[in-house]
Amino acid sequence: MFLGCHLSVSNGYLAMGQQALRLGADTFQFFTRNPRGGAVKALDRADLKALIDLANKNNLGPLVAHAPYTLNPCAAEVRIRNFALKSMAEDLERLALLPGALYNFHPGCHVGQGTEAGIRQTAALLNEVLTADTSVTVLLETMAGKGSEIGRSFGELAEVIGLVKFEAKVGVCLDTCHVFDAGYDIVDDLDGVLEEFDRELGLNRLKAVHINDSLNNKSSHKDRHAKIGQGQIGLPAIRKVVYHPKLQLLPFVLETPNEPDGYALEIKMLREPPQEDN
Ligand code: FE
Ligand code: FE
Ligand code: ZN
Repeated sequence: MFLGCHLSVSNGYLAMGQQALRLGADTFQFFTRNPRGGAVKALDRADLKALIDLANKNNLGPLVAHAPYTLNPCAAEVRIRNFALKSMAEDLERLALLPGALYNFHPGCHVGQGTEAGIRQTAALLNEVLTADTSVTVLLETMAGKGSEIGRSFGELAEVIGLVKFEAKVGVCLDTCHVFDAGYDIVDDLDGVLEEFDRELGLNRLKAVHINDSLNNKSSHKDRHAKIGQGQIGLPAIRKVVYHPKLQLLPFVLETPNEPDGYALEIKMLREPPQEDN
């Protein structure tokens, strides 16, 4: 099992890898740039190389880079769509230097243009940035369906991918809080949800999983993460996700409201094998 958490990149790449190891993680996620702005730091190649060496030496699983929240490929405003295009192109160029890295982004908010228009615009962005030479796998994250978010169903993600020329370079990151909020019953019917994912998208598209409990009930469309075992999904259901035979070798990344110490505890708790009565 590759299990880790979201970490701050503020002290650099190597520091992030070292922190992951201290927390008992063997994968992690980080923002490619300021999540609420979009500014990017100059690339320190020596620091990135040091992380790659550390990752190899310690057999870390695939690392997940998360695009900033301000990246909206299906914004109504051209200026915002252009920012998405420029940021994604730059991020992919940089991540090409980090072998095996996955690039996760939110498929966007259509802001009143309608779901179909949003789907077309997000696919159009991918068709502009992805080329035959792109080495990074880009992941569409499953969304809670808050506001005008697209990607609230596996079918919507499949529609986006169906419009992308280099579709082999596109995967999906399943977020447990988001799919539950979107209405998928991962508590009582995880197998059924994974079967539906397989029918709509193909399980081979699934490249990473965000492990979060949800503050709110199924189908609430709220997207409020909770600590593991302190939300409406609960520890037994989260355990079934990380131990599911069809999901092994995927990077599992916690994005729970925690400081590093809290992440270390959740990682430890999830690594303990499931109890019989689960
Ligand atoms: Fe996300
Ligand atoms: Fe997430
Ligand atoms: Zn979320």
